[in-house]
Amino acid sequence: MNNLKSFLNQKEKLNRTDTIMPVLFIGHGNPMNAIEKNEYTTAWSSIANNIRQPQAILCISAHWQTRGTQVTAMPKPKTIHDFSGFPPELFNIAYQAPGSPELAEETKKIIHKTNVKLDFSWGLDHGCWSILLPMFPNANIPVFQLSLDYSKSPQYHYELAQELQALRKRGVLIMGSGNIVHNLGMVQWSEKAYDWAIEFDEIIKKLIIDFNHSDIINYKALGKSAQLAIPTNEHFLPLLYTLALQRKNESVSFFAEKTTMGSISMRSLKIS
Ligand code: ZN
Repeated sequence: MNNLKSFLNQKEKLNRTDTIMPVLFIGHGNPMNAIEKNEYTTAWSSIANNIRQPQAILCISAHWQTRGTQVTAMPKPKTIHDFSGFPPELFNIAYQAPGSPELAEETKKIIHKTNVKLDFSWGLDHGCWSILLPMFPNANIPVFQLSLDYSKSPQYHYELAQELQALRKRGVLIMGSGNIVHNLGMVQWSEKAYDWAIEFDEIIKKLIIDFNHSDIINYKALGKSAQLAIPTNEHFLPLLYTLALQRKNESVSFFAEKTTMGSISMRSLKIS
């Protein structure tokens, strides 16, 4: 009897974890990661190969900031080359995944914090496609994006993100795409990182492990290294979208941990 009970418990556990998609945060860094094979893209692709195939992907990218919150709702999102000074091969890339008008509608419906607007003009920016290309090169999974309302506080973003939970049960892989440390003004073309960059990345790592999301939301109180790491917060906010979806019984694993180019943290994580 006990055996049967434990078998059923285990089965229930498996089913439960089976029906909920993990949530990811990817430190996207340099747009060249879209076409380079390196330690980051290898780690991203290995994560993609080791999770259940998503029904769709919702990307919250640092590179789509709007007034109010919007969700892409077109059937065929275009590839946006929102950068300059990179080689033509990067501009030639088209990531031709379909969109998901149906899940965009669903997203609008489940978010009560604000009236989410359906968008038909954006597409996929490089915060989204530069990570998807190494992760899901076949581009056959529908992808849609949710924008960041630049007028809102970190606490607001965290609370809005919590409302996305139901999408995980629909097989949607939710991915925040940004960088925990992102100071382009101080970037240098070397692997070595500034001490303050490593320090801030480690502080956030510890807070993530401790499930201390409130200190992460209130990052401005974390001292000098926070000011240097987050001169503007658009690359940090996608992390809050990922963390907000962590349920009490879920743990975090890190699959890229390096801080590079002086002031860019490539830390990436999975919640499951
Ligand atoms: Zn970026």
